[in-house]
Amino acid sequence: MIRTYRYRVKDSSAAPQLNKLARSCNFVWNFCNESQEHALRWNQRWPTGFDLNKLTAGCSKELGLHSQTVQAVCEEYAARRKQSKKRKLRWRGKRSLGWIPFKASGIKVVDDTVTYAGNTFRFWKSRDIPGTIKTGNFAQDSRKRWYVNFVVEVPETELATGTKQIGIDLGLKTLATCSDGRKIEAPRWYRNQQRRIAEHQRKKRSRQARNLQAKIANRRKDFLHKESDKLTKECGLIVVGDVGSARLAKTNMAKSVNDAGWAMFRNLLEYKAIARKVVYREVSERLSTQTCSGCGAIGGPKGREGLGIREWVCGQCNAVHDRDVNAAMNILRLGHQSLALK
Ligand SMILES: [Zn+2]
Repeated sequence: MIRTYRYRVKDSSAAPQLNKLARSCNFVWNFCNESQEHALRWNQRWPTGFDLNKLTAGCSKELGLHSQTVQAVCEEYAARRKQSKKRKLRWRGKRSLGWIPFKASGIKVVDDTVTYAGNTFRFWKSRDIPGTIKTGNFAQDSRKRWYVNFVVEVPETELATGTKQIGIDLGLKTLATCSDGRKIEAPRWYRNQQRRIAEHQRKKRSRQARNLQAKIANRRKDFLHKESDKLTKECGLIVVGDVGSARLAKTNMAKSVNDAGWAMFRNLLEYKAIARKVVYREVSERLSTQTCSGCGAIGGPKGREGLGIREWVCGQCNAVHDRDVNAAMNILRLGHQSLALK
């Protein structure tokens, strides 16, 4: 199982050195671009990663890079050029975000330090690296902060052995409601920040707005990672409603703070479920709110008008339902049905 682990580099002392290395990588990249241009002009065969490797051989020492880094840049250039179907790619310059790829043999990690081409960088070791490092890179985010990414081969023993079966209703008011009654709310912190972003934007403080956005995106990702981790560790079956943008468009609430979270949460659940061999299903959530999970009668709150109704009583069997928990239970039932069909 291949995973990427990201750690923040302790900036202040490392930034100048990393910036310098990144400039060297840009140099290699731009050299690749020039070789490509040259080939275009003289009607030569377009260079492959292998060709570029040969052309750049021996330049690593002068640039202060590990030779594998030069190779990685060449290969990435060739791969992206091919993928983009363009004749050449964009120049990498001052405004490009720094990027320095490496292979495991080109670095040495001891405790919270990573040594690369004679430079030792410290990073915030927020969690252990749970396996063998294969490759990785140093990379900057939009705030120009440096991170080190390790691509790690994680042993299969990390697999969860959960047995719970859970249906999940994704919603506008609550990010996710589980069939066992648990509710996962987006942390108040980032809900409140939305207003501050709007204010920054109104006052044309775009840098502040961007910084705050990056911060929120980070926190949201972190939060969703933790929640999806918990669920996939304790469950053997996860069923999620297929709620999508269509329903959102109808409700005039497309700007809900949860909407950005949904898609990511569902993606995380799916990929973690697959990695942990948890059965994952998506089912139609149509009628899931209106159907009584006890007796199957339809009589619950409907659509937009019913959005304010949080609790209701079934007219058939008199069961009292929490709107979202009931929906999650129906989703779990549909999941069971879809499994039985196969
Ligand atoms: Zn009922």
